[in-house]
Amino acid sequence: MIHEEHPISRADISTITGLTPSSVTRLTKELLDEGYIKEIGTIGKSTPGRRRVLLDLKKEAFLSLVFDVGVNITTYGIGYFDGEVEMRGNFYTPKDPVEFFMKIKEIYLRTRDELNVARISLSIPGMVDMKENKILLAPNLGWEDVSIPELLDVDVPVLADNEANLSMLAEKYHSEDMKNVQEAVFIIIREGVGTGLLIDGKIYRGPSFTAGEAGHMTVNLYSDRFCHCSNKGCWELFSSINWAIEQYGDGLEGKNAIEKFQALKLRGNARRVMERFAENIAVGIVNLVNILNPEIVILGGEVQDLGESFYKVIEEEVKKRALKAATKKLKIRPTTFRTISSNLVGAAVLAIEDIIENVR
Ligand SMILES: [Zn+2]
Repeated sequence: MIHEEHPISRADISTITGLTPSSVTRLTKELLDEGYIKEIGTIGKSTPGRRRVLLDLKKEAFLSLVFDVGVNITTYGIGYFDGEVEMRGNFYTPKDPVEFFMKIKEIYLRTRDELNVARISLSIPGMVDMKENKILLAPNLGWEDVSIPELLDVDVPVLADNEANLSMLAEKYHSEDMKNVQEAVFIIIREGVGTGLLIDGKIYRGPSFTAGEAGHMTVNLYSDRFCHCSNKGCWELFSSINWAIEQYGDGLEGKNAIEKFQALKLRGNARRVMERFAENIAVGIVNLVNILNPEIVILGGEVQDLGESFYKVIEEEVKKRALKAATKKLKIRPTTFRTISSNLVGAAVLAIEDIIENVR
């Protein structure tokens, strides 16, 4: 509860949980003694001059080393117990998983000299079996059936999850408008397209951890374009950043294509490509909205900064195509995470959840 509502008073904890004030006092004393939380003082508004004691998380209580594994560049940082992340650096993602995890270990050992890291947490652009701790498939990296424990031998637990799931987790943890939302979808658009599904207030991963692979729903029955998943006409073929770059053509190929794409002034051909791109994204959102009836659809990845007009096209197209009743309360917005990516923050939240589950 302190994680969800911090800072919070003992009286409020008692009201919300129904625990007696003496139980709350006893339990919070334990948490204080063990260094998970701290007391902070504020001046009460209703009773001027009177100091009200609030409980807040001690952000240094647990630290995690978090990685956003990108197809080209991996960024990393330190995750704190209050869900904040401090950026530390980045490196080119080695294509060989053995080499990649050697690099992770090297960074961990260096960080451990300086900080007490309790978890390593990885955001993966692909499917992750969280029970076996295995990367099932990260198509744009060419990684398949990569067992993390086999390649990363360290003295702290290592966690990993799909980047869209982690983005959803970060939004659920930090965003004001997600507080009472039980159903939501996070769509991450990068070289591929992934979705994180929040159902009944929890991330839905499915029994074999492939839920949310909405990028592979068929949106064009007659397309002869093959997807790496061996299907034809998948949504991600028309809504990933690769589609937009390919359509725009001249001058956007090569290494920094994504950066160049984001810097485009929306005129002429670029504007038309952008509008079609928005429409293509909208078609997938329509399918998701009709199936899941989410309250909020959040977009992240390379499209989060494309601006209001881009989102307006998406909204209009969704309104036009989706079931009327499903869109009545629907909100579509870019992610609130700007300087630090949603999935990196999500990796920190995943570590926090794991730590809390294992506290005794
Ligand atoms: Zn596919």
